Amino acid sequence: MKKMGMEQPFVAGSLTKIYRKCGNPNCRCAAKGGQKHSAHLLTTKVKGKSKAIYVPVDMVEDVRKWCSNYSDVKDEIKIISGYCEQLIKMHVKDMRMRSAKQKDKVSGKREADD
Ligand SMILES: [Zn+2]
Repeated sequence: MKKMGMEQPFVAGSLTKIYRKCGNPNCRCAAKGGQKHSAHLLTTKVKGKSKAIYVPVDMVEDVRKWCSNYSDVKDEIKIISGYCEQLIKMHVKDMRMRSAKQKDKVSGKREADD
């Protein structure tokens, strides 16, 4: 099993590009139809509330990678969790088989799984 998240940083959320005015009245963005500045935000949901974190431009590529690492980690968590569920089910089956053997041909239907 691979070690999770240790070799790669990850972050929950998605990277969003927005366009905005900087507030400087002399800037090109203040003119009507002027080109606005682009900025990146990392948006996440915490307890149902959206949260946005400003991402400086020199970190955008890192953050993009971290977001994609996060979805890999989520997939991995699902896989490992599913695997552990199987372990539990297998253990239960194993115990039933053992106890069935011990009882030796004690008749009766086995309880259905699930
Ligand atoms: Zn501006």
